[in-house]
Amino acid sequence: METKYIVLIGVILLYIVVVYLFSLLAVKRDIGKRRLFWISLFLTPVIGLAFLLSSQHRKLNLYTEKRFECEECGYVFSEPHEYCPFCEKEGHKHTLKPVNMYMT
Ligand SMILES: [Zn+2]
Repeated sequence: METKYIVLIGVILLYIVVVYLFSLLAVKRDIGKRRLFWISLFLTPVIGLAFLLSSQHRKLNLYTEKRFECEECGYVFSEPHEYCPFCEKEGHKHTLKPVNMYMT
């Protein structure tokens, strides 16, 4: 009787470990490690795999870079300047506006 319970608990623990290791695959995905872990735990890793494959790589759509745009001439600089160097040459002083640009 007791051996039965030990085997059962062992199987459950093994299942959780397998699901946990499987969820590590989602670290760089949109779905995330924790969400995939819970989906796989309750709906089996087969369903989890479907979720994993349909979620995109995180870096592709979340990578942004800070740039500085001149609202006057529209030029975008990668380095911060006090005033737009191009407009300054022509005698105007325009401050640069920090913007987040999406990189692909
Ligand atoms: Zn300018």
